[in-house]
Amino acid sequence: MREQFHRVIAIDGPAASGKSSVARGLARRLGFVYVNSGAIYRAITWRILQKKIHPEENERIADALQTAAITCCLQDNESRILIDDVDPGERLRDDCVNENVAGVSQFPVVRQIVAKKLHEHAQSHDLIVEGRDIGSVVFPDTPYKFYLNASPEVRLQRRAAQGGRDEITIRDRADSSRPVSPLVIAKDAHIIDTSHLTIQEVINEIVGVLEKMGLRT
Ligand code: C5P
Repeated sequence: MREQFHRVIAIDGPAASGKSSVARGLARRLGFVYVNSGAIYRAITWRILQKKIHPEENERIADALQTAAITCCLQDNESRILIDDVDPGERLRDDCVNENVAGVSQFPVVRQIVAKKLHEHAQSHDLIVEGRDIGSVVFPDTPYKFYLNASPEVRLQRRAAQGGRDEITIRDRADSSRPVSPLVIAKDAHIIDTSHLTIQEVINEIVGVLEKMGLRT
């Protein structure tokens, strides 16, 4: 039987395109729950590395995930991820996670687990979900799809301003070229170039589109 979901607004796009700030702000404005799917991929990657599993060892990753307890709970209308009862918190942004998350995310077993968690969330809440394949693969039937982009220069500047090292160009290339659920623009997505827009302007544009589509909040 087909799963029944609440309303889902998909916000996809490459790294540093503005997805997180926009999705979080939009969720507050509409009263939806905010879910960062990248955080789930990051948590899995962090746990795999912590267990000293090489990020290319597909079978060991699959074995480890069979016994891993991955829990998504709600805090202030945002989804938080616990893995084996630990909240990885700021460790999700560690350099080793940045470097390996795209590699771990390419495995179908990993993608299936994350999609299942997102589907579970959508069975009980209206969601704003940010990611790479949310409109194209995870929730293809939602009519509310947005794809945020920004020039490579602007995205690099934004990431540098956040501190830390994150080779977003390498990650974007890996995310766009993997065989399973690559980063693509869903054919019915509304595309927004955020290079020269403020977060508020992007949110306003999305709300305008949603209102035209008849979304009631
Ligand atoms: O959104 P964020 O940059 O934190 O995502 C980290 C990584 O997680 C991405 O570079 C990508 O490899 C993976 N990811 C994905 N599919 C999603 C969300 C994130 O493959 N829906």
